[in-house]
Amino acid sequence: MAVSFDFSSWPPQLTPEQLEALTLAATTYALSHGLLYLPPSNSLSNTQPRIPTTAIHAPISLFPSPFPRAQFEAARKLQSVYNVLYTRVAMDTQFLDTVMGADAGVGKADEFTGTLWRGWKNIREHDVVQPLHLGLFRSDYLLQDDRLGLSLKQVEFNTVSSSFGSLSERVAAMHRHILASTSYLSASPYLTADNFPENKTTSGLAEGLAKAHDAYGVQGARILFVVQPNERNVFDQRWLEYELLEKHEILVIRQTLAELAVSASLVPSTHVLTITLPSSSSLTSQPATYEISTIYFRASYTPSDFPASSYYDTRFLLERSRAIKCPSLPLQLAGGKKVQEALTRPGMLEHFLGNEGARWGIGARDLSAFATNIRDTWMGMWALDSDDADIVTALDRLQAVASGRGSEPPGTRLARHKAASLVLKPQREGGGNNVYREAIPAFLDSLRVEEREAWIAMEMIETPRGVGGYLVRAAPSSSNASDGSTEKKVVRADVISELGIFGYALFGAGDVVEKEVGWLVRTKGTESNEGGVAAGFSVLDSVVLV
Ligand code: ADP
Ligand code: MG
Ligand code: MG
Repeated sequence: MAVSFDFSSWPPQLTPEQLEALTLAATTYALSHGLLYLPPSNSLSNTQPRIPTTAIHAPISLFPSPFPRAQFEAARKLQSVYNVLYTRVAMDTQFLDTVMGADAGVGKADEFTGTLWRGWKNIREHDVVQPLHLGLFRSDYLLQDDRLGLSLKQVEFNTVSSSFGSLSERVAAMHRHILASTSYLSASPYLTADNFPENKTTSGLAEGLAKAHDAYGVQGARILFVVQPNERNVFDQRWLEYELLEKHEILVIRQTLAELAVSASLVPSTHVLTITLPSSSSLTSQPATYEISTIYFRASYTPSDFPASSYYDTRFLLERSRAIKCPSLPLQLAGGKKVQEALTRPGMLEHFLGNEGARWGIGARDLSAFATNIRDTWMGMWALDSDDADIVTALDRLQAVASGRGSEPPGTRLARHKAASLVLKPQREGGGNNVYREAIPAFLDSLRVEEREAWIAMEMIETPRGVGGYLVRAAPSSSNASDGSTEKKVVRADVISELGIFGYALFGAGDVVEKEVGWLVRTKGTESNEGGVAAGFSVLDSVVLV
């Protein structure tokens, strides 16, 4: 798709005075509207959440980033297909066992994945008392700049703890406010209200949680948010909590896994999950006990959430309960990088999109017509331990048999040969775990043979170059101090913008209830390979459609 927009013309030029005025408008808006983070803290606890005394604005982009309208709309349209695709993956026990399991799949090589899978297997063989699962998903994309023009390419599909929905809505509102309130923005003809799409992500995500709560169907039950003790992105979560109460009259209980080890229990015969809060935290004269309808995990996606094996016991207790899990363990496993790779293998997408949704008892919608659209969003991916025919053929074609160690599997040899255009990914979430381009050969030298299976190779998406942005941070971040930019509040940098589309799906019995519910943009300097806002490498952003 050809786009006439000149990306290298972005952002509009500003005088130092204009830049300062714009920064003042943006940061003041952010602080006034809950576009916030907790500041870094030295006194961290492993159990109790912090009581905040101050907040800082989230890292933000002064201008929205240009994104082609056609690709933006295509990504939103595709979300429903992706929603259904991942519900089917989560229902296909045999597929997940083969790809993610500890007997036959990645769980052999990756301890964290293996532990989650074993926990799930144990539970599903004994006592599944809740057939419904809830997913709050985020499908992430970059624009690929190839000779034919720009195309939408998927980075990953998140099924657990998909964050920044609420804050992204506030960044879009901030950009709309700046547009309406300042005259500098006449600097570009693209900066018009028509090109700023609506962002209603908070209500969309809360609607997903409320649908699960309603399906559970017990008056007075509450939704449990499972959170990390040292979470700084609490306001993003709190906006969902406020929306649930204000629009749906549903109360939320926030607890860490450590707190839940004490407060959570299952009613023996029914597996109803109850949380008992001491009178101090429930503001009642007696300890109070609440039934939980839905468990929303904003923790338990990374090994550091489980500092001792007892934390897994708590996670599995929650899984065994009658509450609807967002996500359930199989749905969390379905979001693995290895699943993303496995779906690209011949026939797999057709298996999941075909007329046989009924096979998993979740409706029979035939989505095969979308197979090409979905596949068009994928980059090449393969497993490092692969000896599949297509990998061998690709290797032969490159005459790369001599490159790499003779004893290595074709997947690893192909990764060595194509390292300059690849990223390697383990089964992890939350950013900071990947290995890029020139770092790959040495990494492969150091990787233990038995760990190979835990990694996938993925072709790098080559994004449009020369597009710039103004990135604003509230506090110095030590993670990228090398360019000296962290001393300044505003940095002008060449940037890459990643679009995320949110969706929810409630499924497991009868037809899937699903919807596309919003979007976010994260923008990072091109010098950084990673894009995690929480990890401090990138800023929250919105789009100007071009
Ligand atoms: P995580 O689950 O940790 O967020 P991702 O797969 O999203 O892992 O990778 C982290 C970041 O690395 C992405 O946000 C993106 O900036 C970059 N990245 C990942 N895959 C690619 C790719 N194929 N091409 C270019 N950049 C990528
Ligand atoms: Mg990501
Ligand atoms: Mg992820």
